[in-house]
Amino acid sequence: MSDRKKVLAAAAGAAVAAGAAYKINKDIKNKKALKEALTEHLIIISLDGFHSRDLEMLNELPNIKKLISEGAYSEKVKSIYPSVTYACHSSIITGNYPDKHGVYNNEKFQPGIKSPEWNWYCRDNKSVKLYDLAVKKGFKVGSLFWPVMAGANIQYNIPEIWPIKEGESQVPLILKYGTPKFALEAAALYGKVLKGKKQPYLNTFTVKAAKYMIKRKKPNLMMVHLTDVDHWRHKYGAFHNYVKQSLIDTDKAIGEIIEAARQAGIYDKSTFVVLGDHAFIDVDHRISLNSAFREAGLIEVNSKDEITAWRAYCSHCDGSAQIFLKDSQDDEAREKVVKIIEALIQDKSSGVEKIYTKEELKNKRVTGDFEFMVEAKIGYYFSYHWNRPQVVEKVDLNDFDPYDSEYYVGMHGFDPDKEDYRTVFIAAGKGVKQGVHIEDMCIVDEGPTFAKLLGLDLGEVDGQVVDIFED
Ligand SMILES: [Zn+2]
Repeated sequence: MSDRKKVLAAAAGAAVAAGAAYKINKDIKNKKALKEALTEHLIIISLDGFHSRDLEMLNELPNIKKLISEGAYSEKVKSIYPSVTYACHSSIITGNYPDKHGVYNNEKFQPGIKSPEWNWYCRDNKSVKLYDLAVKKGFKVGSLFWPVMAGANIQYNIPEIWPIKEGESQVPLILKYGTPKFALEAAALYGKVLKGKKQPYLNTFTVKAAKYMIKRKKPNLMMVHLTDVDHWRHKYGAFHNYVKQSLIDTDKAIGEIIEAARQAGIYDKSTFVVLGDHAFIDVDHRISLNSAFREAGLIEVNSKDEITAWRAYCSHCDGSAQIFLKDSQDDEAREKVVKIIEALIQDKSSGVEKIYTKEELKNKRVTGDFEFMVEAKIGYYFSYHWNRPQVVEKVDLNDFDPYDSEYYVGMHGFDPDKEDYRTVFIAAGKGVKQGVHIEDMCIVDEGPTFAKLLGLDLGEVDGQVVDIFED
């Protein structure tokens, strides 16, 4: 063996030894962490758009029914304002309201762009995150399509991110911002069931990948985001037959995920959580405030209807909306905006219910670069359109195409205090007491409760630990 080869062999040997030592250290760290935890595997399934009224039906289905009867649950979980998916999931995983974590809408504020980027990146969430604490403690963490997770420093990650620019495709984005090894493993095994991000194919893939992750990786914290129910609710209404079928499929999927834990030999050491981020409200009218702003000269467009200048702009959160001023000192624009919105509120048929100032929004625990928020009445939602002949339009179901993003008949994003607008939390398994009914809670209480289950501490947060634990 030449000297050079000897050096290389020694270096390789040292690397193997170092690798082994690292592995042992990691295992020791993990075992120590587990001693402080109430469970070894926390499997969180977010059922997007889970409505409290779904429980009537789900209580007839085997898997959810079993979780409820064996654990703790609440059907009166309050969401946050605005009750949109990315803000909600950021609150769930941090225990904080949007004024602290900073994710105050799904989309980034990009005026004049019809399909803006979303707050996909973990850096968009400014609070301490449960999954970061878990990794630091030596736990294995996996996530499947959980929002605001692109670029997260966890072991197994397929983030929710999609292309918005022409010519871009989803796979490179997932590989760049997720964990390529795991994403490729899952794609090689189950990628053929996918049709872009169309449902129910995406759900089928997610459930298969979740089962694979449990069996092969046995994560200590797993976060799974299922969007099928949300999809059908938006397109067909909150309680359409398609939604019912999707709930039946979801119950089956939950059963399969639990069964995967059984097959992996970790069932007795696992805690299963099924939760919702917000409920849903049926809508039949669309409000396009930017069309009113354009009419008032606050938005200017060119011959192609592209925005060339703006002084005020409405960024929709569907059931609510955020109004931005280009220049916060522009009092003339501010007065015009208030006048337009006050007139709409006076007109009982407009669907605009309320306007909140920045100061008033502090009590609603949402702050951002916007000047106002507006809230829609039940049956109405806000859109970005700046080119509509009427500010308020009936959603024409004759033009309805389930894959057209222009039309919705079910929406969320409303004030979480709206009537019949609560979501659900269910937890069962290791560390959780049987037969607990939680009268009232908020999604911000979930983060600190998960932290306690895993023996972690999120620090000073807005939410409170919910007492669901075994004595
Ligand atoms: Zn959602």
